[in-house]
Amino acid sequence: MKEAAPTRQRLTVLGSTGSIGVNTLDVIGQLGGPERFEMLALTGNGNIPLLAEQAKRCRAKLAVTADETRHAELKAALAGTGIATAAGRSGLIEAAEMDAGWVMAAIVGTAGLAPTIAAAKRGADIALANKECLVSAGDLFVEAVKAGGGRLIPVDSEHSAIFQSLEDDQRHALERIVLTASGGPFRTWTRQQMAEVTVAMARAHPNWSMGLKISVGSASMFNKALEMIEAKHLFDVTPEQIEVIVHPQSIVHSMVGYTDGSVLAQLGCPDMRTAIGYALTYPKRPKLNVERLDFAKLARLDFEAPDEVRFPSLRLARLALTRGGTQGAVMNAAEEGAFQAFVEEKIGFLDMAEIVEEVMEAMTAHPPAATMEDVFAADTEARRRAGEIAGRIAAFRKR
Ligand code: NDP
Repeated sequence: MKEAAPTRQRLTVLGSTGSIGVNTLDVIGQLGGPERFEMLALTGNGNIPLLAEQAKRCRAKLAVTADETRHAELKAALAGTGIATAAGRSGLIEAAEMDAGWVMAAIVGTAGLAPTIAAAKRGADIALANKECLVSAGDLFVEAVKAGGGRLIPVDSEHSAIFQSLEDDQRHALERIVLTASGGPFRTWTRQQMAEVTVAMARAHPNWSMGLKISVGSASMFNKALEMIEAKHLFDVTPEQIEVIVHPQSIVHSMVGYTDGSVLAQLGCPDMRTAIGYALTYPKRPKLNVERLDFAKLARLDFEAPDEVRFPSLRLARLALTRGGTQGAVMNAAEEGAFQAFVEEKIGFLDMAEIVEEVMEAMTAHPPAATMEDVFAADTEARRRAGEIAGRIAAFRKR
């Protein structure tokens, strides 16, 4: 009897043209490409040439640009290939709702929320890189994944490290989780020096090569602040169980502490492909062509306590964690608004945290996040307020 051909794993990559997306396609290529994986949909935003090239290379069924004004360009680039195209929010949802069993959620920002929830609701396994799903929608997002029946596998290197170090049958003995932070390019700078930071300085991360938003977030430690909130929802821990430690070499990706005093950690060279590969083949480990740790060359690993005066973002994350409700969504949206104003050179580097704090304080009485509509309402309001304050600061700076 003729053996049935092995079925290929069906995948979709939301945000394929970004830093995580490109690394995801590299891992997929390393692990067998179209012979082993059937790519249903790829999505991007402004980088149409790359999206079209990826869609052809991966033999995707659908390519989507979030930017409706670029749809004609995408169609033209894929003419004659048989690859369908779509655009805008509805196009992203169409991609998420295709029948892929594994979906990489790597769209940057709140734009990633709706398509990731759509994929989660229909039961796909979600490889989660996008932070906003957990930071803004928290419990609602976790509930959507549970209701759908798929698995939630973290891709952020810190959460992947915790996921790998957290043994399911030892959860009762979990005492704390320790998120490591590189400290970014301004780890040793004074606040006076940080006041002069430019976008080019903030985007140059010492260890990781990443997208603009997360690079600036690493420099301000807002990225770590978002990760603290993510950790709470992913691992169901209290704010008191979440620690942050600065580790400039970015070799220990994070740790789990148990009640017997043991600490389990996951180590590796700073390369997102390890966490992406783990999320793709979980619970097995793939064979990947990434750099191996050379302990003799490494020689030492340093750790230091974070400074919450120079990096107020960590203190703000604790506030958001303690207050709960929509404060995560508020912090996230205010930070996105402040980040936008910073990259447009309207405000200074330190203004970002001040804007976020002012918006969070003004919105403590916002109704709790009972539905996604509540989350979107808090997001819109926080963004509006952040824009208003940024405008005020920009006008003052011009004087
Ligand atoms: P990038 O900025 O490199 O890529 C973002 C992706 O989202 C691109 O495909 C981009 O398309 C697309 N995109 C941008 N704007 C929109 C929009 N409005 N609607 C739909 N799609 C859009 O980001 P990263 O890959 O660095 O990060 C992706 C997510 O993963 C972020 O949430 C980040 O915090 C998280 N993350 C990233 C890590 C990293 O190492 N980079 C590590 C851990 C988490 P296009 O490029 O075509 O414009």
